[in-house]
This record gives sequence, C-alpha cells and structure tokens, in this order.
Amino acid sequence: MPCMTQAEIDAFVPNSLHEDDTPLEVARQAMEHARCWSPSQQMGGRWPIGCVALEITQRCNLDCTLCYLSEHSESVRDIPLEEVFRRIDLIHRHYGPNTDVQVTGGDPTLRRRDELLAIVRRVRERGMRPTLMTNGRKATRNLLEALAAAGLVDVAFHVDTTQHVKGYRSEAELNALRAAYLDRCRGLPLSVMFNTTVHEGNFDEIPALVRFFRTQAGRVRTASFQAQAQTGRGVHEKKFDITLDAVAAQIERGAGTAINFASSLVGHPRCSRYGLCFEAGGRLYDALDDAEFIARLKPATAHLVLDRGKRGNAAKQFLAWLASNPRHWAGILRWFTLKAWQMKSGIAAGSGRVNTLSFLIHGFMDASALDRERVNACVFKTMTAEGPVSMCLHNARRDSYILQPIRVHTPQGARLWQPLGAAAQRHGIKHAKGRSRQKLIEQRTLT
Ligand code: SF4
Repeated sequence: MPCMTQAEIDAFVPNSLHEDDTPLEVARQAMEHARCWSPSQQMGGRWPIGCVALEITQRCNLDCTLCYLSEHSESVRDIPLEEVFRRIDLIHRHYGPNTDVQVTGGDPTLRRRDELLAIVRRVRERGMRPTLMTNGRKATRNLLEALAAAGLVDVAFHVDTTQHVKGYRSEAELNALRAAYLDRCRGLPLSVMFNTTVHEGNFDEIPALVRFFRTQAGRVRTASFQAQAQTGRGVHEKKFDITLDAVAAQIERGAGTAINFASSLVGHPRCSRYGLCFEAGGRLYDALDDAEFIARLKPATAHLVLDRGKRGNAAKQFLAWLASNPRHWAGILRWFTLKAWQMKSGIAAGSGRVNTLSFLIHGFMDASALDRERVNACVFKTMTAEGPVSMCLHNARRDSYILQPIRVHTPQGARLWQPLGAAAQRHGIKHAKGRSRQKLIEQRTLT
C-alpha cells in the first residue's frame, strides 16, 4: 500500500457531517469501503467511533521520548473554552450520545481546574462519556474526586519508561507509581486504564507488566499498549517496527492464556486489537474465545451501554437486557456453564469473585508512512476546528492545526484568537521539549 504523499496529507479534508445517514451507517460504510466489515466488527455495528480526542491544551509537564506533540506545542496557548465547547457539540453532532471523548492534551491537568471541570461537565451533559488522559503527575485525589463528581467516566494513566521519570528505571519499578495512582482512584466511580508505549527498551518487560495488571484486575479495567511510532517531537529513533501481533504474543505470555483478539474487531485490523479476559483467583481466562457466540450476541446487545464505573450497575443493566431477550437465554446459559466449568479452580481460589480485564493494542502510524486506507477507516479521531480527523494524520500535520488562528464566538461577539501568546518567547532550555531541547543541550555542550 503506497504511503500518502506530503501533498495528500496537506490537502486532507476532515470528515463532513452526513445529515442523511446515521453515525452508525457512516461508520459501517467506512468499514465496508476499507474491506474491514465482518460480523465481528464493532465499528458500524455497535459503535460509530472508537473515541474522539479533545485536545484542551498543548502543554505537558513531561518530555516523553516518543511524544506525539509538536516542538511548537509548549508555545501554544490553551484554546478558549468557547471553542472547546463548540468542538464538544461538534463531536456530539458527528457521533451522537455515548461517544467516548478523550479529554487530552498535552496533559489536560495543566489546564485551569475550573475550566477542566466545566469541560468534563459539558461532555457529560451532552450524553457522552469523558475520559481523562493524563500522565498522572497532577491528577491528585482531590482533583479526581471533583472530576468524578462532574461526570468523568474513565481515567487513563500514561505511565512507562519513555517518560524517564527520576527514580524509576524500568517498567517493573514504575509499578510503584501505577499502584499509587490506583490508590488515588480507590472508591471513586471511575474505570481505570493504563497506557503503555511499547518500544525496544521495554518490549521484553510486557509479560511481567501484564502479570502486574492481572494482580490489579478489579482496580484496572483496561491495559492499553501502543507500539512505538515515529511522529511528533520525541527524540527516540525507532530501530524496527513492533507489530501488533508481537505485542499480542507478549500479552498472552503475561496473561498465561491464549486470547482471541479477532472476536471483537475495533476498526482496521492493522490499527487495533481488542481482547477481554475474566480474572478469578489470580488467573486470567479468555472471555471472547467463542467467536461465533460473540458474533451472534453482538447485534442483539448493540444498544446495550454498560456503566463502566460501577460493577453493580453494569450487572443490573445486563440482567434487565437479558430479562427482555428470552431467545438468548439458552445460548447464554450454555456459554455461562462452559465458562464457569473452565474457570472453576480460579473461582474457588478467588472465593467466587470474578473481574474483567481488557487489553487494547494500538498501532499508530509513522508520520512519514500514512496509509490512506487506514486513515479513511480511522476510528480514533481528533476533533479539529473544521471537524474530526484521524489521530495519525493529525499528528503528522499537527502544526497546521494548532498554529492556526481561530474565530471564537462569544455572547459579546466574534473575535480572532491567536494561538501564540507570551509563552512563545519561552524557548529557553527549561521550556523546550523533544528535539528542540536536545539541540539546545548539544549547543550548550559545544560552547
Ligand atoms: S489513529 Fe491511526 S492507527 Fe489509530 S485508528 Fe486512526 S488511522 Fe488507525
């Protein structure tokens, strides 16, 4: 598949609104067009989109070696709240209620607290599900409590060795930080996800990391792994591609079980893999191993939206659905009996308690190697002023989005907002990130 040329990337136009088709129909057409449609496909069958990123700041308090931000990001002011609200409404118009909206950045906790709370509240008021994407440094217990009260559904902590956090030299050592973040969420109605960038330096540690997540099942809902991609300001030069298959194999090693990553497809198979396990007594069991049964159940449960923050609510919602769908009783009873038999020793060891643990693998593309088919079938979008675009494409031409002036409409009238403010002057070594910082350090060493 030939890569998109720079001219094609520059000329790319965001998705427009399809007033005649439902969001689900639009997604299904995109899947069919990319030859990704099948009974196992969630996009276009259950969901119109995987998630939409809402970047509310370009600033970050870390400097990851595989960062997707631009070298200009630290100079860009936070976009006005009116524009953030307009983009939230735009997400709703494109994809409808229950859309997963990633409140992200940079690190969104660097935004003013009252504004961050207002943004989360607005997403929830529109009937969508906000996720806080953070490195956790400033996500205090107090802030998480306030965000949960404002309607936050998920918190996703990005913790890994690309961050070079002082005092933590390996993924194993970083587990102390992960555990501390989990403690901050204790008792809150939030579902917790951990994001890990997979690179040559931590690839061998993935099985042990999965074993750590396994011990935390019940507190961790999703473990997400992103294979390294050359995009943005990061200084890491990747030496080879880490495939989704290779990451899946490492996850299975740590899980101690085979996992069927093909039962529930999330968009293009070269972009994402999804697996779901049950945990009982410290062991993991593949929940989606019966692909035919899952494919039969999928259309019947397509409209079922479960509460991710409260297990009790999710169970009640599922039982209510089950009560009104008697034609599925026999199939579900058979599946349930087989699964309970398969898990009997774990269930006994865990005193009957069963948790779920999801695995997500994502393969972002290098900025210089965008595949048009995947971009067109993208289910992980970023909302721009003009509309949603593939995250990969957004990262490949980030400056053209973040450096563009924005016309902001307020009750007092329209004004043109300029992204570069006083912060643009702060290009000293203290504020530079990524390759700019590396260059400044090299210059300093030479002089
Ligand atoms: S962001 Fe990139 S890798 Fe992810 S779904 Fe979109 S095109 Fe695929």
